[in-house]
Order: sequence, then C-alpha cells, then structure tokens
Amino acid sequence: MTVRLRPHHLLCMLTFIGKGYTETFTENYIRIAARLSAGEDILVVEGPDDICAPMLGEVDMHCLNESVTDRDIKASEAVGALLKMPAGPGASITPGADFLQRMRAAFGDGSIREACQRCEWSPLCTGIAGSGFDGVLVMALDR
Ligand code: SF4
Repeated sequence: MTVRLRPHHLLCMLTFIGKGYTETFTENYIRIAARLSAGEDILVVEGPDDICAPMLGEVDMHCLNESVTDRDIKASEAVGALLKMPAGPGASITPGADFLQRMRAAFGDGSIREACQRCEWSPLCTGIAGSGFDGVLVMALDR
C-alpha cells in the first residue's frame, strides 16, 4: 500500500501529535501516522489526499482553496531543494529514519517552513519542533 500525501502534508506529518480538525479527521490521521511509521511509501499527489479524506464534504472544507494549493507549491519546492529530488505530485518517498531526521532538522531551523505562513496550527507546530518533536506520532520503526 501507499500513503497518498499532498506536498504540504510532508511537513504536517512531522509535527502530528494526535490533534486535528475533528475526531474523524484525527482518527484517520492516527492510522496514517502508524502506516508511515511502519515505512509505508508516500506517493505525493495533487489536491486532497488520504489525510484530507474525512474533511471532504464538510461545510468548512478548505482542501481545495487556492491558499492551500499555494502551500503545496511552497512545500514541494522546499522539500525538493532539501532532498535534492522532485517532491511534487508523482514523487515517491520512503519515510525512513534518515528522511524524517533530515526533514525535522530542516523544519526545526525553519528552512522548509515557508508553506506554514498563515497556518492556524503554526504556533503548535513551532512549539513541537522547539520541544525536539516530543510526542509526535510519525516515528520510523527502522531507527
Ligand atoms: S504550521 Fe500548518 S502547514 Fe506547517 S506543518 Fe504545521 S500544520 Fe502543517
């Protein structure tokens, strides 16, 4: 199986501690975090992904907003520059220990966080990074 993630969720998964928009959203995200921790490959996709799925059809759904698409573009550029590989739709990534370590180091120093601008969760994510990613749910089992 493959986890389908839109580009900015490559960042969000680094700080996921089990909090989210709704209970259904969070329960689904926790299952995805377990799959990523087990090393299931990521397929980067355009638009709503496996994390967005429970939000589709909600009245306050923002998954198709232009601002979210812009977040994806900024994230794919930043992650691609960090990893020196394409990180936009169609890219395949294995979320192993090395990948997560490099991503979290860059997230912590802010160098891949342009996509986080104006995100309502940014203070929470900044705090989690500042704590050394204490309590995050995506943790490579091959460490
Ligand atoms: S600040 Fe927002 S976009 Fe950035 S990682 Fe956190 S939830 Fe994702």
